[in-house]
Amino acid sequence: MAAKPTPMMTQYLMLKAQAAGCLLFYRMGDFFELFFDDARKAAAILDIALTTRGEHDGAPVPMCGVPVHAAENYLARLIRAGCRVAIAEQVETPAEAKKRGGSKALVKRDIVRLVTAGTLTEEALLEPRRANRLAALCVVRGQLGIASCDISTGRMELEETREEELAAILARVGASELIVPDDLPTGDSPAVPVIPADAVSRPAQSFDSASGAERLQALHGVATLDGFGNFGRAALAAAAGLIAYLDHVGRGSLPLLLPPVMRGNDAALAMDEATRASLEIVQTQDGRREGSLLAAIDRCVTGAGARQLAEDLSAPLLSRDAIEERLALIAWLHADTMLRGDLRAAMRSLPDIGRALGRVAAGRGSPRDLGQLRDGLGEARRIRDHLRERDDLPPLLDGLLPHLGGHGALVDLLSRALVPSPPTERSQGGYIAEGLDAALDELRQVSGNARRAIAAMESRYREETGVAALKIRHNGVLGYFIEVPARHADALMAQDSGFTHRQTMAGAVRFNSLKLHEEANRIAEAGGRALAAEEEHFSRLCGEVGEHRRSIALTAEALARLDVSAGQAERAAEGHWCRPAVTNSSVLSITSGRHPVVEAALERSGRRFVANNCTLSESDRLWLIGGPNMGGKSTYLRQNALIVLLAQAGGYVPAESAEIGLVDRLFSRVGASDNLARGRSTFMVEMVETAAILAQATPRSFVILDEVGRGTSTYDGLALAWAVVEAVHENNCCRCLFATHYHELSRLADSCDALSLHHVRAREWKGELVLLHELATGPADRSYGLAVARLAGVPEQVVERARSVLDRLEKTRAETGGLAAGLGELPLFAAAAEEAECDTLRDRLRSVDVDALTPRDALDLLYELKEEIGATDR
Ligand code: ATP
Repeated sequence: MAAKPTPMMTQYLMLKAQAAGCLLFYRMGDFFELFFDDARKAAAILDIALTTRGEHDGAPVPMCGVPVHAAENYLARLIRAGCRVAIAEQVETPAEAKKRGGSKALVKRDIVRLVTAGTLTEEALLEPRRANRLAALCVVRGQLGIASCDISTGRMELEETREEELAAILARVGASELIVPDDLPTGDSPAVPVIPADAVSRPAQSFDSASGAERLQALHGVATLDGFGNFGRAALAAAAGLIAYLDHVGRGSLPLLLPPVMRGNDAALAMDEATRASLEIVQTQDGRREGSLLAAIDRCVTGAGARQLAEDLSAPLLSRDAIEERLALIAWLHADTMLRGDLRAAMRSLPDIGRALGRVAAGRGSPRDLGQLRDGLGEARRIRDHLRERDDLPPLLDGLLPHLGGHGALVDLLSRALVPSPPTERSQGGYIAEGLDAALDELRQVSGNARRAIAAMESRYREETGVAALKIRHNGVLGYFIEVPARHADALMAQDSGFTHRQTMAGAVRFNSLKLHEEANRIAEAGGRALAAEEEHFSRLCGEVGEHRRSIALTAEALARLDVSAGQAERAAEGHWCRPAVTNSSVLSITSGRHPVVEAALERSGRRFVANNCTLSESDRLWLIGGPNMGGKSTYLRQNALIVLLAQAGGYVPAESAEIGLVDRLFSRVGASDNLARGRSTFMVEMVETAAILAQATPRSFVILDEVGRGTSTYDGLALAWAVVEAVHENNCCRCLFATHYHELSRLADSCDALSLHHVRAREWKGELVLLHELATGPADRSYGLAVARLAGVPEQVVERARSVLDRLEKTRAETGGLAAGLGELPLFAAAAEEAECDTLRDRLRSVDVDALTPRDALDLLYELKEEIGATDR
């Protein structure tokens, strides 16, 4: 029969049951221990030793542990690996437990917090240049509500949408954790097909719009939410779910939440998930920041600036006024190199006050966070004073200045209260400055005096005992003690020496004395009282910061905007970028445009990027672009989409000049990209995405289609590409760049009057292919596919063989009139296959040395060849 579980195991199992879905970090002294499957999983992820401790149900209990002082580091790795962690702390000291239940009493433990990807505030767990969002989603009477927040800075947004837009919104929000009600249809349900598999399911009752409104009102001390915006039921229900989840993970203590902002459906340039992925806006397709548009343009000197820039790029604007406001500030900073340099230098040393505020408001702040707020808010005031001297401030900056100032009294208070570099840990004290609190200063003096008295005592004892090696030392177990080498111990052991023996070590003996005991008590008592006094000041200061949380958050946002603008101006100056003219026309006219990421990559290898123009207009709005592989078609398509995106994000663009008629939706489709994770084949993905464009693109949209139709058989693909181009031209009437290898499509120029033909230029020179990367008007003369294959190192005999197949194919095409003549069935590939088969037979026969064959071998060979034909016939 299995033994009864130990009291500790019973406590563990009870806590583990409360921590459903989480790894349980169970505090034992200086370690967090994990048991059973948790231990197996964590040991594998963290690459730490898996041991055992005791038995449960007759089997050893697997265990692993991490030291408390290094726990953040391990937590970061577990969270990154997709885990959620419940922290069970000791909520009483061993002494308290003893007092409560005798010597065998188990220390009480409780789950104090859940650490999940979306609810982090710790500096060590967050990436400085990346926002960390938590989002909640729900459906109320067919309307979808989404609430999102970044609790590291307190920003909160609510929005409502229709089902078709959900995927695009989730892609924009980019939450690291998504919460859904447990009655929401998931999986294959047509209602919400895009919920990620790792979404966290929460009780549906917590998504209640009335309680959402109440919680928000109570949080922000208002009787109505009208002052913040007009929130619908679905949005409020999502907010309720979000706040209830935060309650749950924080075990009742809420993090910083600023007043919610309602985001309208038409606030941002619409881009769906596939477009974002293919344009590699804030990360590359394989999830790296390096190589993305963001990385290529980010010149921000602060983490908060970089986060704001990522947000700008993820949600470009639709309002011309708002775009112009941002552009005017960049232009102002662009024109004044000196001012820009000064500002950037000042901002470089700015601490991340938004996140420091987030930690303080969540009750996880440290003296260092208060120090950061003091320094950051102080620097913001100096920046404000510097800028205030100018009388030509652009309107956006004029609006930011009041947010940069203010907080004078708070900065003064924090400056008086804190030492210059306050520590992250509070347990040792020493962070409150001298001069703030006379009583604290006195306590410090008492313990300082006592310390000095102990130092004096040490020299006196040396003299009195004649033991020069005598030392007064301190450790956590004994407190202060006198130590002498063992050979001198006898002198101190004497009855009347005034020393009492405490411990005998291998080479030393330790003593106490009445005097030392008195001084040590004095230090301990004064130290304890001083610590308590510092704690009191600390909570008062945190309270004071909390009072100003909204205005501090505004200062943080103003600094981030200033950093983004100065960084954008810097990037523009560095790359000779221009200020785009954003208009209400349907023109997209770009002179000498460049692709910022490809250009930077080429520059690194000493090569030059060839700039190209793009001049789409109402009467010439669809460009078909042909030309060789590797010619630069995809680069060209994307550079124009990125220029639109940059301009509408309110930034300069990599071109000589640009007129951007405002775009309402941006689409980017690249033929043949698998989404196996979602169970869709290459071609299926391509068609689903194409269908979305045909259904959604408006005359104000801009669409880039790269080799659509490539993922299926040549004829199906060509026929589809043909029909898609026609539909985009006739029905959607949007601006569109369409790259293709199908020459046949050039016939469309005869029937589509707003369509024109273009190609990227290449030349074959002395048998070598020269790619010019230059866009020219007119159809492409040929493909150069074989030349590119040779360039890529495909074996010469394969290229030669391809050439002979191609010649034959082209001959057949000429004889039958070609596909574009009627899109009829052609036996091209059947002919090629037959030809290939004959060639194999011929090659084999050619290699036979007939003279060397015996009659028997000859007969066998004949059988073999016949069988081969039979096999291919089948
Ligand atoms: P494919 O048809 O094979 O997809 P493509 O025509 O779309 O090829 P890209 O992928 O755009 O060609 O470009 C291929 C390479 O050519 C790029 O990686 C880049 O190195 C170079 N390139 C593209 N455009 C330019 C340019 N404008 N100036 C200089 N180099 C360029």
